[in-house]
Amino acid sequence: MKKYPEPIQKIIQYLRKLPGVGNKTAERFAFHILDWDSLNQTEFSSALATIKTKITTCDECGCYKDKNDCIFCSKGHDLRTLCIIAKAKDVYTIDNMNAFSGYFHVIGSLISPLEGKMPEDLCLDSLSDRIDKLQIEEIIIALDSTLEGDTTALYLHKVLKNKKIKITKLALGIPIGSTLEYVDEGTLSQAFASRHTLVEKTS
Ligand SMILES: [Zn+2]
Repeated sequence: MKKYPEPIQKIIQYLRKLPGVGNKTAERFAFHILDWDSLNQTEFSSALATIKTKITTCDECGCYKDKNDCIFCSKGHDLRTLCIIAKAKDVYTIDNMNAFSGYFHVIGSLISPLEGKMPEDLCLDSLSDRIDKLQIEEIIIALDSTLEGDTTALYLHKVLKNKKIKITKLALGIPIGSTLEYVDEGTLSQAFASRHTLVEKTS
């Protein structure tokens, strides 16, 4: 790598950790940041320095929140539907399509024995209570269309089947092997609209 002054080198080194950012792009970004006025630089570095302390996850649903109430729990819900997602960031992909106004529940990860993620690692402790308290009538499992996503969906089905509520899974409009964050809004809306039932409501 070229010998840049150490402070620039350091910025490049961190920018390269970002997904899809190689040497060239990291260098371009670093010099761009160097050209910013000092107010922008200070605000950017302060935002970075405090992101871990200012962002927490909601005790109820597991979505990201700041010091204010969780926007996903406090907004009006016209459906008694709860959508299970793997990661807190997935909520934004689904919320952006403006076609779902139910509740969310973040399970934290997918089951993946190869990565050491087992069923007991999923955040399911409060799920059963939430389903009862919110009088949920349908659970939508919205996980990645991957082996790990399908394994996790089957496990959730097993855990929740005694609840006697409708359990649906996003339809296969989502390309096999794709993760939610790369699915466009149109495809995701379609996957929601044509979701299929994993178990019928029996009462
Ligand atoms: Zn919440």
